[in-house]
Amino acid sequence: MNQLNFSGGPGVLPASVLAQAQQALIAVPEIGLSILGISHRSDWFADVIAETERNFQTLLNLPPSHAVLFLQGGASLQFSMIPMLLLRQRQQTADYLCTGYWSSKAIPPAQLEGNVQIIWNGQTSGFHHLPIPTELNFNPEAAYLHYVSNETVEGLQFHDVLGLDNVIRVCDMSSDILSRPIDVKCFDLIYAHAQKNLGPAGVTVVIIRRSLLENAPNNLPEMLDYRAHLAAHSIYNTPPVFAIYVTLLVTRWLLNDIGSLAQMDNINRMKAAALYRAIDESAGFYCGWATTATQRSLMNVTFTLPNMALETAFLQQATARGFSGLTGHRSIGGIRASIYNAMTIEAVMALSDFMQEFAQS
Ligand SMILES: *Cc1c(COP(=O)(O)O)cnc(C)c1O
Repeated sequence: MNQLNFSGGPGVLPASVLAQAQQALIAVPEIGLSILGISHRSDWFADVIAETERNFQTLLNLPPSHAVLFLQGGASLQFSMIPMLLLRQRQQTADYLCTGYWSSKAIPPAQLEGNVQIIWNGQTSGFHHLPIPTELNFNPEAAYLHYVSNETVEGLQFHDVLGLDNVIRVCDMSSDILSRPIDVKCFDLIYAHAQKNLGPAGVTVVIIRRSLLENAPNNLPEMLDYRAHLAAHSIYNTPPVFAIYVTLLVTRWLLNDIGSLAQMDNINRMKAAALYRAIDESAGFYCGWATTATQRSLMNVTFTLPNMALETAFLQQATARGFSGLTGHRSIGGIRASIYNAMTIEAVMALSDFMQEFAQS
């Protein structure tokens, strides 16, 4: 039986995309060669890059001031490339928000490049909530602000843009990119690896305001210099052709099957509402990880059961029913239902029914 993939990452992909990817492994229809053996220097692949870029521009309404890059090294390499570009050889400090597992991982690599100010730290309160606007004192002189829009592990999501408009704004959107419309002009650098909401692991999308590159330090290894990748149209060295191709198929699915990010957002809200309703109407049997309802994630629904034995039973029965990947992240335990773009409403409804049934039994 095919399982429904509620995994935190790599995440679920649309069935129609998987079918096309399967076909491409044998032969891409218009080329007659396996996707795994097509040259990254071919005209066909240059078109794949160009169309994927265009689809991001269309979906996000990107202004010409921003470039789209396809890089490697995952979101984790961006934790270093960003401070290398924006903090190295600077006197300024960078503002970082520490709101969960992933934003805390971004901080040590930045500290290797310069001074970091952690302007809010949720660690002492166990990462159960995000800051409210009045708790945040942004530094108007900061080199940049870094935050994570959706904390994938804890299931906490910012629903508004943070920071000051005259300070460079950098955001890790690995687990919620293309899940909702955003005002992209507000951001100077957005990054997201593919394997949660965009495609398979191997490619990381970076959307960067071109002017950020004007003051790049001159002692960067070329491979870690955004300028080299921009000049080479993301084919500086051998790129992950397959991962980029599948990302293209996902952007086509968003444009042609879903229609727009506003429509995707509507669907995602319905899915999240169904699961949060199952939590809220369980009379305390399920306990949401997030303590503030307005900060709940629309992508990762996290909760606990009254004890470990019940969690184990829940996971066992869920697996038997075909719900896979519900085990919470190893750092916090509990249950996590990741309902990325490609997770269908029907599958979410089935999970919500199962949750109600299990609570009653
Ligand atoms: C999963 C995740 C990462 C880690 O990404 P890698 O590609 O494995 O380096 C970073 N940030 C966020 C928000 C994530 O969800």
